[in-house]
Amino acid sequence: MDISYFNVKSNTKFELSKIQTDYTAEYKSKSDAQADLKKNIKKMIRLQDKLYAEDKYSMLLIFQAMDAAGKDGTIKHVMSGLNPQGTQVFSFKQPSAEELNHDYLWRINKCLPERGRIGIFNRSYYEEVLVVRVHNLTGSEKIPAELVTDKIWQQRFREINDFEKHLYENGTVILKFFLHVSKEEQKRRFLQRIEKESKNWKFSEADLKERKFWDEYQKCYREAIEETSKKHAPWFIIPADKKWFMRLAVSQIIVETMEKMPINYPRLNEEHEKKLSTYKQALEKET
Ligand code: ATP
Ligand code: MG
Repeated sequence: MDISYFNVKSNTKFELSKIQTDYTAEYKSKSDAQADLKKNIKKMIRLQDKLYAEDKYSMLLIFQAMDAAGKDGTIKHVMSGLNPQGTQVFSFKQPSAEELNHDYLWRINKCLPERGRIGIFNRSYYEEVLVVRVHNLTGSEKIPAELVTDKIWQQRFREINDFEKHLYENGTVILKFFLHVSKEEQKRRFLQRIEKESKNWKFSEADLKERKFWDEYQKCYREAIEETSKKHAPWFIIPADKKWFMRLAVSQIIVETMEKMPINYPRLNEEHEKKLSTYKQALEKET
């Protein structure tokens, strides 16, 4: 699989409707993909171990999607087997009253991954140029009215770009995934949630309401992705109609990115290394 297929190059325009949602690259079956996902997970476990031991870089994985595209399942499957101490997952919902008393990055800052950790955002500050834009919610965000002009979205793109540049320059590697599901597949999954008792809890009336704004969301997603996909904080548009392929593609992108990162187990200095052999001798002499 060539992961550059999914990558949105900086400063390029695209049409979301022209990007296939059921693409599966060279994979013809679920089982082939699952076998490779397993291999990727093994590689991720080893790479995460180094990342954690070295305690220098951190990773931030952002997941954005329409409802039922499979954010939760992807996070669950791709991250399975990782050291829980080295991962931090946060879901961002409607902001609380306390959160609205601050700028929109305030709640984000508190959730950023520590060095050595992999942070996962299930939704993120991108909601500020998605749901907030689609429903024009800036009025309830308590921003002084005179600061909310028709330039607000361009302003937010710039703020987000500056924020991500800042994170990158301080040792956070950022990957952003848009799980691209088709409107028909979303309908199928909603119906499944209604029909299958074990999935009933996942169904929410609010999701049906949001579905009515499909085109507006697609437009906002396209613009947000075009404006904020950068070499140091790239967006990947992942075909999401086939869950098994989506999971594999995400894992492949994470593995290939981590493999390129200069992460190594910390090396001890000479004095420390000498001490280790003395400790070894002492232990071996023990009766
Ligand atoms: P699930 O798969 O469980 O439905 P979810 O991410 O859709 O996961 P919900 O609790 O259903 O979680 O919905 C959270 C809602 O919060 C989403 O509709 C999202 O758009 C909204 N939200 C997130 N951030 C903001 C924000 N900054 N302002 C307004 N709404 C937001
Ligand atoms: Mg939801």
